Amino acid sequence: MYRLHDAGFSAYLVGGSVRDLLLDRIPKDFDVTTNARPEQIKKLFRNCLLIGRRFRLAHVRFGQEIIEVATFRAAPSSSKFSKLHQTAEHGMLLRDNVYGTLEEDAERRDFTINALYYNIADYSIVDYCGGVNDLKQKTLRIIGDPRQRYHEDPVRLLRVIRFAGKLGFQIEPTTQAPIAELTPLLKHVPAARLFDEVLKIFHSGHANEILPLLHQYNLLEQLFPQLAACLEDEQKKSIEKFLTLICQTTDARIAENRTISPGFLFAGLLWAPLQKSIQQHLQQEDNTLAIAYSMASHEVIAKQIEQITIPKRFSMMIREIWDLQNRFHKISSKYATRMITHPRFRAAYDFLLLRAQAGENIQTLAHWWQQFYEADPAERQHLLEQVPKTKKRKRKRKKPV
Ligand code: ATP
Ligand code: MG
Repeated sequence: MYRLHDAGFSAYLVGGSVRDLLLDRIPKDFDVTTNARPEQIKKLFRNCLLIGRRFRLAHVRFGQEIIEVATFRAAPSSSKFSKLHQTAEHGMLLRDNVYGTLEEDAERRDFTINALYYNIADYSIVDYCGGVNDLKQKTLRIIGDPRQRYHEDPVRLLRVIRFAGKLGFQIEPTTQAPIAELTPLLKHVPAARLFDEVLKIFHSGHANEILPLLHQYNLLEQLFPQLAACLEDEQKKSIEKFLTLICQTTDARIAENRTISPGFLFAGLLWAPLQKSIQQHLQQEDNTLAIAYSMASHEVIAKQIEQITIPKRFSMMIREIWDLQNRFHKISSKYATRMITHPRFRAAYDFLLLRAQAGENIQTLAHWWQQFYEADPAERQHLLEQVPKTKKRKRKRKKPV
């Protein structure tokens, strides 16, 4: 910011970083905005990369961090630029890379608390939209006409819920009123962007507060329709308990600065739909459990990626975690020792313990694996010797016709 300032440009810290600093929270990242054009920014910084086709942005590397430096942009509703903004039929914004003034830049932002600027020239906070007051009142207020702003970018429906859960803020009534009704707009959002947004929710450290809100505002129905359908069923309570545990472990890991894996997360979110689908495959067709399991896991994932992209490496992990749940039942010296060296063992094992904690009828099994996992090699051998030998089942041969 000082370099931009010294070169005669204005420079402001903006968005989540200003909001979080004013709330005495540690910002996740820092965004800078300036009247310098991307090419001008590039000239000032050696470690600068211009990115984006839709929005030209500068990424300036600063030590380990990448600071996003954006040129002021105008609000799409700003009439003088209306021709340059393209919208789809349902009002969604397709292009909005039109440069503007600082005030216009503030107006195109989503919520008042996200439209605060820290000015490096005089160390002041610039507030065009009443964000400081809303921060004090712990209020989330969308800038402009709520319906229009949600239509322009339906991801704002998810953002409002994420910030409400993460910051513990109230949603101002007119900002809140259209949410549940407009959730079908999320169908127009590319599945890959929804994947990013879902990860932001689970990386926020407050998944446990946000997930119930997503359910309450019909957003779960759009993001995870199979899960939402299971939450209508009789076993609703036990599913909710499992989801709470998944969210709590995720939040605890974030708090400890540990990584979370989207594979584990999605395996958890889709566990109830998987069980439901397995039951259907067992009932409808004359399948063995293993076949029903495999068909169900393919089906549940295939249906889910209609809404949210799941990159291949994660969908593979989901399947492996699920597959290992089934294999935990085969306790024998050959299997158990091999299982423990499986690259997904740890994730699958954590998953098993969460299922047990949520009250699934696998207490003895989970307890055995816990003992086995925590034991040293000699103790493990001893534990295996105690396992009653299971008779090998003879395979039924199909008689030739
Ligand atoms: P976080 O702490 O999650 O990073 P953030 O507010 O910084 O929160 P970002 O996604 O990093 O969120 O976006 C930075 C800023 O860009 C926001 O504060 C907001 O001003 C603006 N912004 C981001 N997404 C949108 C959007 N969909 N519509 C309007 N403005 C947006
Ligand atoms: Mg941010």
